[in-house]
Amino acid sequence: MDFELSDEQRMVQRAVRDFCESELKPYAAEVDETGQLRWEAIRRMPDVGLTALQVPEEYGGAALDTISTAIAIEEIARACGSTALSLAAHNGLGCGPIVRWGTTAQKDAYLPKLVGGDTLGALALTEPGAGSDLAGGVQTSAVRDGDTWIVNGSKAWITNAGYAPVITTLTRTSREEGTRGFSMLLIEPGTPGVTIHAPEKKMGLKGSPTQMITFEDARVPHDAVLGVEGDGFKQTMQTLDSGRITIGALSIGLAQAAYEEAIKYATQRRAFGKRIADFEAIQWMIADAAMEIEAARTLVHKAAWLKDTGKDYTKLAAMAKLLASEIAEKVCRNAIQIHGAYGYSREFPVERIYRDERLMTIGEGTSEILRIVIFKRVLQEFEQTLPAMA
Ligand SMILES: Cc1cc2nc3c(=O)[nH]c(=O)nc-3n(C[C@H](O)[C@H](O)[C@H](O)COP(=O)(O)OP(=O)(O)OC[C@H]3O[C@@H](n4cnc5c(N)ncnc54)[C@H](O)[C@@H]3O)c2cc1C
Repeated sequence: MDFELSDEQRMVQRAVRDFCESELKPYAAEVDETGQLRWEAIRRMPDVGLTALQVPEEYGGAALDTISTAIAIEEIARACGSTALSLAAHNGLGCGPIVRWGTTAQKDAYLPKLVGGDTLGALALTEPGAGSDLAGGVQTSAVRDGDTWIVNGSKAWITNAGYAPVITTLTRTSREEGTRGFSMLLIEPGTPGVTIHAPEKKMGLKGSPTQMITFEDARVPHDAVLGVEGDGFKQTMQTLDSGRITIGALSIGLAQAAYEEAIKYATQRRAFGKRIADFEAIQWMIADAAMEIEAARTLVHKAAWLKDTGKDYTKLAAMAKLLASEIAEKVCRNAIQIHGAYGYSREFPVERIYRDERLMTIGEGTSEILRIVIFKRVLQEFEQTLPAMA
């Protein structure tokens, strides 16, 4: 693995940063206050590849490697958390599974709509009674009836549901077959029986819509299955592995933004006749933030590199997301501390960034679940070394 970004990766970073500095960052507070994404900016995103980060070129995509994708998501998050979550979900959860497992007909039907900048993709896994335990808890069912499926149930907390031309939905297609009893269905929101509810009122990421979806005898064609019937659970796990790299990158972008604000403030604010940056306590918080951001970014890029080189990256993706989200929590907390009372005010961005950041230890695998994933892998690796040690 190379510790220097390649020229192409640097070009991606520069282009995305320039775009975000002018199109997103100045409007981030407004997006938060109004609870509305800035569609004017999203419609321009295809010009810099942001709506099609890992979509093949034949479908108008940027076909980027995973490190470049992480860089792009980090840059969007550095500018606007709400936009970053919606774009992360769009690229990784909305486009990703269709690119990976869709038939040519499914790709032709949905990818052009998804990459055009007028819609955002969505993936519906979570239900009111099932988040971490999808295998044990998912109740949304799809029952075969002739050449259609009849779908019943509900999905909760779905990012971009109201903007998506198609919602990739995890359903139970068989009760008997354990995790082989799940399939992903590509469900169009206009299908009779599908209701997309009003956006949830959230603590942060307010511009990124999070919605409940209900299915009441919604009929979808039999060929709406993504990939192979019975592969839904496996597809979910693989999509989440990849999504964890993205959420790690998003966490770093938020931490980086808070850290930059903290340095700026610390070098301007004065107390006891000095800049507060001249106090050791403040210097230590900034030094820790610089170190932790660097460490988490390196881990995210390593997980991305493993993915791009075709190696197993489940453990590293879980580690990267866990570390990045937990350091983001600390860096954003300390950025408020450095700002004193002003950090608690909406006049300064660190208040919003802190609220936005709070999701990162919850979505796409809570910190507790990620520790379980890491422990299982570590134990497996340990057990594999036992015969050699005996
Ligand atoms: C803003 C936002 C956007 C989202 N977007 C999407 C989306 O686009 N698509 C989608 O499908 N979902 C989405 N989600 C849902 C998200 O992925 C879930 O919230 C997450 O997976 C956790 O599930 P849960 O909330 O049901 O928590 P639960 O699973 O109920 O967990 C509650 C608590 O119990 C802990 N816990 C559970 N099991 C264990 C265990 N075995 N050991 C130790 N602790 C445990 C958890 O770590 C957590 O602390 C979104 C959520 C939010 C808030």
